[in-house]
Amino acid sequence: MIQAEIKSLLREDISILIKITNSAKHYLCDCGEASLLTVKEIQSVSAVFISHTHIDHFSNFDGIFRHQIGSGEKVVICGPKNIHHQIEARLKSYTWNLIDEKAIEYEIREIISPEEINVYMLRPPYWNLELVKTQNFLFEDDQVKVDFAILDHKTASIAYLFKEKDSVTFHEEASGFRKGRWISELKTAFEKGDSDKEIEMEGTVYKAADLFHLLTLNPGYKLGVIMDHAAKEENYEKIKTVFNKADLIYIESFYKDSDQEFAKINYHSFASASGKIMKDCQVKEAIPIHFSRRYTESDVIEIETAFYKAFREN
Ligand SMILES: [Zn+2]
Ligand SMILES: [Zn+2]
Repeated sequence: MIQAEIKSLLREDISILIKITNSAKHYLCDCGEASLLTVKEIQSVSAVFISHTHIDHFSNFDGIFRHQIGSGEKVVICGPKNIHHQIEARLKSYTWNLIDEKAIEYEIREIISPEEINVYMLRPPYWNLELVKTQNFLFEDDQVKVDFAILDHKTASIAYLFKEKDSVTFHEEASGFRKGRWISELKTAFEKGDSDKEIEMEGTVYKAADLFHLLTLNPGYKLGVIMDHAAKEENYEKIKTVFNKADLIYIESFYKDSDQEFAKINYHSFASASGKIMKDCQVKEAIPIHFSRRYTESDVIEIETAFYKAFREN
């Protein structure tokens, strides 16, 4: 199960921590002020996902690496075009004469297009960028795979989808056979779609496809974070492609409907527009986030009301 915790208070900028059940590794979406983020949590972050580098999403990056340096770990940072230069500039702005070379290793993944990701390494004490390779996927580890959409916010703003790995359940009681190595062989054949694989059990050879009915595929949980984006059709097409039928999405709803002319000017979204695109995506649950700092609590309630009305409307 994937869970998200908003680590910013009302009127603070935005930062969302993603946790996976039974895993010590966390992922961080954006680096706005985050009073609720603990040092221990920061030290468990194995990857940071930056939507874009407007100051409200990036100002606390120093506060994050302050607690990561010294861990000796590799931390991945994903972000839009030029993210590597912006990270480099932040790190180079401090004096590092006392640091150990192995204090940390940053691997930066710069998103150029849906199929083109540049991977750079950045290490102390000189923090000179080294282009390592270009790859065609963004992020995958033993817990999650991360897809994304490049949205327009008058600059590229990356929306991320965290997908837990699918799992396969074996129905022992339905099988009537003794347990054995064949079960894992069958699961592997199922995951690879290898219907012709020969599975031997109790002295008989079966075709894998004839045993697939003993298995069920459990699709992994899908949680998305959609930060700043203009409320317009071109963005919505991309959102629908990546986030369709997700389990839970956090989506920027910066303005009240009555302020939607500001949304247009600033390439932001507003309450009912965000609710409607979530409905069109048929997501199971959606939560509006990242409101203008000039709004009071009652303005936020107004945003939430308009958002959920559009989201749940028949
Ligand atoms: Zn922005
Ligand atoms: Zn913002």
